[in-house]
Amino acid sequence: MNPNTIVVPCRSPAEVAETIARARSHRIHLVPRSGGHCFAGRSTTDGIVLDVGPMRSVSCAGDVATVGAGTLLGDLYDALDDRAIAAGCGPTVGIAGLTLGGGLGVLGRRHGLTCDSLLSAEVVLADGRVVRCDEERESELFWALRGAGGGNFGVVTSLTFRTVAAPELTVFHLRWPVHRAAEVISAWIEAAPDAPDALAASLLVTPTGALVLGAAIATETETAAMLAPLSGLAPTSAVFRHLPFREAKRYLAQRPTEPGISLSKSEFFAEDLPQETITALVANLEQDRRESEARELDFTALGGAYARVPRAATAFAHRDARFLVKHGVTTRSGLDHARTWLTRSWEIPRPWGTGGVYPNFPDPDLRDWARAYHGDNYERLVAVKDAYDPSGFFRFHQSVPATRPV
Ligand SMILES: Cc1cc2nc3c(=O)[nH]c(=O)nc-3n(C[C@H](O)[C@H](O)[C@H](O)COP(=O)(O)OP(=O)(O)OC[C@H]3O[C@@H](n4cnc5c(N)ncnc54)[C@H](O)[C@@H]3O)c2cc1C
Repeated sequence: MNPNTIVVPCRSPAEVAETIARARSHRIHLVPRSGGHCFAGRSTTDGIVLDVGPMRSVSCAGDVATVGAGTLLGDLYDALDDRAIAAGCGPTVGIAGLTLGGGLGVLGRRHGLTCDSLLSAEVVLADGRVVRCDEERESELFWALRGAGGGNFGVVTSLTFRTVAAPELTVFHLRWPVHRAAEVISAWIEAAPDAPDALAASLLVTPTGALVLGAAIATETETAAMLAPLSGLAPTSAVFRHLPFREAKRYLAQRPTEPGISLSKSEFFAEDLPQETITALVANLEQDRRESEARELDFTALGGAYARVPRAATAFAHRDARFLVKHGVTTRSGLDHARTWLTRSWEIPRPWGTGGVYPNFPDPDLRDWARAYHGDNYERLVAVKDAYDPSGFFRFHQSVPATRPV
């Protein structure tokens, strides 16, 4: 923990407003923190970390759930019981941070981003006002929070979502040795983003092999049929398990974590990748590799309901993308060496990328971060910033700046 950091846990919007007022009067930098997982460390600072963790609550009425901003995904899924929200798998990820940047998950190709299920939010603004925003009230703020809201416009204290009946899921793993990785990537790119909405199949490629994993809102037989373009490539093992929703989420969250420092870079793609690019990506996994480094290419399919929400409906600027590629490395030594590999891997497919980067996978090295995260929405976001935080109190690296001077 940075010795200059003061963590202030807040239990209510009033405590949030009080903490903001204190920070303002002492001119101390403040950032909100929910689950604390920001890849770029934006929920930490030399000043005040406003921790919404104590606002951990879930209440349901019919198909609507109101969730305190400090709630973590694992607790949220447990509390929802037979209902669900389309969201990610990491049980310790904060629902606030995830939703405010978009929110990809196994129900997403059927139900959209997590922020697409958001009905309203309670926000404490920089001037201490507590506002509730939705499609009718403070609608521009509501628009901005859905895809560009992480730390930029105010502190969200509560989120209200439309829920869906929690479906049973078939979870699956299909494995191939690494010498088959290039053909698996080609087949995955062709099949996964255009698969039926019920299927969420991700692809992980490491120096040791390729793994297609995910879940489908379907029986084992139906899932196997949807995965035929991939299972036709004769995986060395294929596992299918039909599970209740909560168990399926727990199963999917069980991913081994490597010790060390993790770095990542990512980009969205709207078109296929040429075969030589795929071959180069796979070859680069082994290039100058050290035993102390764990390298990974992580492909996520979009399409489905993600793409059916009109582009202008929310601030999430990547509706046209078919898939997302995250390049990741975890190192126990030699940060520069790991960074060199990461940058080289990220650059290989870039000529075919949209230039867009997922706001929930922030990358402090991006040059044109405003376009990368927000695309054509950037100007509208600046107008929202001007209206709700004209002094730019919520300032930090790569945030949306107010156009007026502080
Ligand atoms: C293990 C793991 C699994 C993941 N799985 C997925 C996944 O399945 N799908 C997916 O889309 N992403 C996933 N992610 C990425 C995740 O969406 C982002 O890391 C997200 O920003 C984490 O939110 P947080 O609340 O945990 O983090 P934090 O660091 O607390 O917050 C992230 C950002 O939001 C801001 N913020 C936090 N709380 C508030 C608030 N109350 N009001 C305003 N701003 C706030 C912070 O200042 C920061 O800028 C995963 C990350 C990890 C580490």
